Amino acid sequence: MKTLVFPGTFDPITHGHLDIIMRSLHLCDHLYVAIAKSSRKQPVFPIEERVELACLATEKISNITIEAFDGLVVSYVEQKGAHAVIRGLRASSDFEYELQMAMINRKLHPDIETLFLIPNEEYSYLTSTAIKELAIFGADIKRFVPTDVANRLVERYKKKAS
Ligand code: ADP
Repeated sequence: MKTLVFPGTFDPITHGHLDIIMRSLHLCDHLYVAIAKSSRKQPVFPIEERVELACLATEKISNITIEAFDGLVVSYVEQKGAHAVIRGLRASSDFEYELQMAMINRKLHPDIETLFLIPNEEYSYLTSTAIKELAIFGADIKRFVPTDVANRLVERYKKKAS
């Protein structure tokens, strides 16, 4: 059985993440979406809510597990008996950082590969950060994120403004 791990912050999950998830599912029998606590990055959504939103967005998919994790990605991959790490590459600007992480992970665990997947070009500019900025200014974000995420972002920034 082929198992893959897609790690990230998912603050919050977008159609870009979902595009990579769907592509990954074609390559494996089971996919773990590993949501990093990432306290250093000061995420807008707490870990429990990021997991909840990712679960809602993938509820129709059976061979997927959404989990919070803390620590090294390679340790998580090993613990799950997985074969590789999936990362998305949007534009060349992602490349430097992704190359560095992939090389570090290879040093830590030479048997674990990193696979890079390219999203549909429609999502190649989409970042969670941009979505949050749009939401702050009340822009319509429905086409970029699942409905639950759009509603949650509207609620969150309404609360902050009042
Ligand atoms: P991280 O903080 O680990 O970069 P993110 O949630 O921002 O976490 O991203 C997790 C993974 O999803 C990364 O590999 C990132 O490149 C990928 N990703 C995010 N948005 C997109 C998108 N629009 N298209 C393709 N990949 C994406």
